[in-house]
Amino acid sequence: MSEFSWRRDWLSRPIFRLARRVLPSLSATEREAIEAGDVWWDADLFSGDPDWAKLLATPPATLSPQEQAFLDGPVEELCGMLDDWKITWELHDLPPEVWDFLKAHRFFAMIIPEAYGGLGFSAYAHSEVIRKLSTRSITAAVTAMVPNSLGPGELLMQFGTKAQQDYWLPRLADAREIPCFGLTSPEAGSDAASMVDSGIVCRGTYQGREIVGIKLNWHKRYITLGPIATVLGLAFKLYDPDHLIGAREEVGITVALVPTNLPGVEIGRRHLPALHVFQNGPNRGRDVFIPFDNVIGGIEQVGKGWKMLMSALAAGRGISLPSLSAAAAAFAAHVTGAYASIREQFHVPIASFEAIQERLGRMAATAYVLDAARRLTCAAIDQGHKPAVITAIMKAQATERMRVSANDALDVHGGKGVMEGPLNYLGALYRAVPIGITVEGANIVTRGLIQFGQGAIRSHPFILKEMLALEESDQARGLDEFDRAFWGHVGHSLVNAFRAWGRSWTLGFATPAPPAGAATEYFRQLGRYSSAFALAVDMALLTLGGSLKRHEMISGRFGDVLSELYLLSAVLKRWHDEGRQAADLPLVEWCMASGFAAIEMRLGEIMANFPNRPAAWLLRFLLQPFGARRRGPSDKLTRACAAILTEPSAARERLTVDIYRAADDSGVARLDRAFALVTAIKPLRDRLRQAHVHDIAAARQRGLISDDEADQLKAVQLAVADVVAVDDFAAEEISPRRAVRTQGDVSSPAASPIRSSAAE
Ligand SMILES: Cc1cc2nc3c(=O)[nH]c(=O)nc-3n(C[C@H](O)[C@H](O)[C@H](O)COP(=O)(O)OP(=O)(O)OC[C@H]3O[C@@H](n4cnc5c(N)ncnc54)[C@H](O)[C@@H]3O)c2cc1C
Repeated sequence: MSEFSWRRDWLSRPIFRLARRVLPSLSATEREAIEAGDVWWDADLFSGDPDWAKLLATPPATLSPQEQAFLDGPVEELCGMLDDWKITWELHDLPPEVWDFLKAHRFFAMIIPEAYGGLGFSAYAHSEVIRKLSTRSITAAVTAMVPNSLGPGELLMQFGTKAQQDYWLPRLADAREIPCFGLTSPEAGSDAASMVDSGIVCRGTYQGREIVGIKLNWHKRYITLGPIATVLGLAFKLYDPDHLIGAREEVGITVALVPTNLPGVEIGRRHLPALHVFQNGPNRGRDVFIPFDNVIGGIEQVGKGWKMLMSALAAGRGISLPSLSAAAAAFAAHVTGAYASIREQFHVPIASFEAIQERLGRMAATAYVLDAARRLTCAAIDQGHKPAVITAIMKAQATERMRVSANDALDVHGGKGVMEGPLNYLGALYRAVPIGITVEGANIVTRGLIQFGQGAIRSHPFILKEMLALEESDQARGLDEFDRAFWGHVGHSLVNAFRAWGRSWTLGFATPAPPAGAATEYFRQLGRYSSAFALAVDMALLTLGGSLKRHEMISGRFGDVLSELYLLSAVLKRWHDEGRQAADLPLVEWCMASGFAAIEMRLGEIMANFPNRPAAWLLRFLLQPFGARRRGPSDKLTRACAAILTEPSAARERLTVDIYRAADDSGVARLDRAFALVTAIKPLRDRLRQAHVHDIAAARQRGLISDDEADQLKAVQLAVADVVAVDDFAAEEISPRRAVRTQGDVSSPAASPIRSSAAE
């Protein structure tokens, strides 16, 4: 300890002692979760005064020529091979040639460095591959995504010994080994650290040799790629009752590689997740014996499994699922805009109804914001960040917003979206929604506990420092560190309180913002809300302390505000990076209007429900003296956003860039063709509509159109009918029992459906 300091010894010491007594100490798993990854733009948002120059200077995510060639080549070719209906309802699996293609082109090795035979792709390239695949087949996308997410490959690269990397990575890269990762068990889902799967250190025989190793017993479920995996990355609790490797009896969570052909491994049965057919299933191990060489990182890493998992998740959560979700939102916007333009009811395209425009406008803006955030997050990861709080925000927000877009798409399509069959291009996406919501941390728990609970500690400029000082075993050093962090915190809070007050009362008038043309005001408003958020967080921590984590409704709302701040930052960054496109401005404005309203509403709800009422009154006086005033996007703005989806334009292309465009007879390809035809003859159709003539023959008879124009209109009519058509099936085609009765033959129950078309 340094020499006498009156502040430390007279003021800080009693606070330090009191805090050590009353504040709950962090458990090992909590501490490892909090320390995983790093902080990035989230820290700026928590500071109350984000440095916009830093955000705008972040280089945008880009693809190398080799990555672009992979997207234009193997990814495009793979998409062409995928028939999602056949995969899902007939084969219940990817066809063998698709598996071979995935393996041969190293789709399972996107993250493995080239030195080991992998593709060595950036996070952005990985995300782009998943994006395109997701718009063709969710089953294929999930299959390609999983070996590149949390699992043996990622864990070996981060924590494996050189010998393990040299052995396993080339085998994973060329798909001699198919990996899966087993964490979840029946008793341990969200609370994964409570698993009862065990490993006992003992002597045993492995490959004919007597060694000290681990005897494993486990029961896992929901494991993607599990049924066909050749190597299982297994998380279990390690015990050493005979002290064969050290003094500790309970060693802790450990991760090891278990070849699935070892005696005692039961694997192969399948779940059907929301009727998707990517490989997923339970597995068990009974007295499976493995050597310590199979523990990732070797014997030095026993008991450090939780830390490894949290560290791997810190970046991974920001790539795969956000990519799939952003792709789903873009795809939904693309097809729904086109469908609403070609589908007519009451003699007009349904896109001309305001209630439909309300949904289309939201879908367009959702596609814009999700892709903006996906790209920004990938850019941060590609610069070496592992922003654990931001990736949790991405996982939860992207999947929640995908849910809204999927609902909107189905609602606008009506029965066309409901009827399953090869022509239905929305059913699989809709069924994928609950999967995204549940995996990699179910959203309800992610919203409050991870986005905010972890964020408040991790991204706040002082909280983690204070907590670590309180936990310090050397009390004198702890007091020194606490003294610095605590008074830094007090100073920061006071400055921020005045800043938040000033910015709120002036409606952000004098808040610093970079010169950003039409978006300058939005930077100001985000700065204003960031300081309001930072002040409310400090007040919550001061009055609720450690109990904040039990107030999940409060912390969930804080999580929502933080998420909005991040997503809206991403929108401004995208607009800047794309050269401030005037045509995209309605999308930017919509996102801002909707986000600001959500922020004000959530802050208002926090104050209304704050347990400490005087603190709530003070906050309300400082931040919202007149209550929540934002009302969300205007109808005019929503109409402008909807219009972007219903007419071909560069803005529409930017929104739906990189989704797969099929040139076959699929439902989407039919839709794209009909949309192009309908928009090409729009002036002609408008002419007939104005004349109140809805029949081509009548129009020709009255001389309103030429023969040539009548032919064009008929061709368009056929193309539209081809899109509006849905599939129907003979009874025996969908009911094998009927087939037995009527044909006495069940050899091919899933016969091809009748493909309705206008030409039939
Ligand atoms: C399709 C699919 C694929 C998967 N793939 C894998 C895989 O490859 N490997 C693997 O290990 N696991 C995998 N999982 C498991 C997945 O990670 C878990 O499903 C998830 O962690 C949630 O666990 P649970 O389903 O048991 O839900 P539960 O933990 O039972 O949760 C039920 C509900 O309670 C909520 N909840 C729980 N705790 C809290 C809390 N403290 N506060 C508020 N709410 C709370 C949750 O948010 C959820 O809404 C997969 C799951 C699915 C559906």
